[in-house]
Amino acid sequence: MKKLLLLLCTVMGAMLLSCNRPAVFSGEEEALIRQGSAQTPFRVLKITNTQDSIILRTPCSDIGNFANDTTLALLIARLKTTLSAENGVGIAAPQVGLLKNIFLFMRLDLPGAPVMVAINPKITNHPDTTVCFVRDGCLSIPGASGNSTRYPWVEVEYFNEKGEFFRERLEGYSRQDTFTAVIFQHEYDHTRGILFIDKLCR
Ligand SMILES: [Zn+2]
Repeated sequence: MKKLLLLLCTVMGAMLLSCNRPAVFSGEEEALIRQGSAQTPFRVLKITNTQDSIILRTPCSDIGNFANDTTLALLIARLKTTLSAENGVGIAAPQVGLLKNIFLFMRLDLPGAPVMVAINPKITNHPDTTVCFVRDGCLSIPGASGNSTRYPWVEVEYFNEKGEFFRERLEGYSRQDTFTAVIFQHEYDHTRGILFIDKLCR
């Protein structure tokens, strides 16, 4: 009897927990994501628009309990569509109006240059020295490019869309070769409200 009660309590507890699971997105965020299908690009926010620039300058928050979330899957699909429509190498959620720690970045260092998803990304280590990366650019800053101060490599942590945890060292800051490390830093900065024009160098 005791065992049965314990089992019942465990089952009830698990049910309560799953019912109380907080939503990944607010109602407003959910509505924005569900405005289009996977093939519909988002409108990319531009710094030249006052309302947009306030959003672009706001730090984002982490995404909790995201496993198997259908809205998150649609967000990622729409971000991929947007990135490809804009011919970009990376795009972060705040650039489409969602203040969440998630971005896409192109792995120029891997065969086929796949686009990868970084959820709740962190930069855990970098060298003391920096480089001046040539011709940084941003989908949210139309018609402008400039050199930006970057770390030549970064050690990073993030989750992908399947909830798999990654810890790796990203390298590359050369336009001629690969600049995966710079793409990650550029997109990571977006989630903190920082733009490449804040880091200009000669
Ligand atoms: Zn950008």
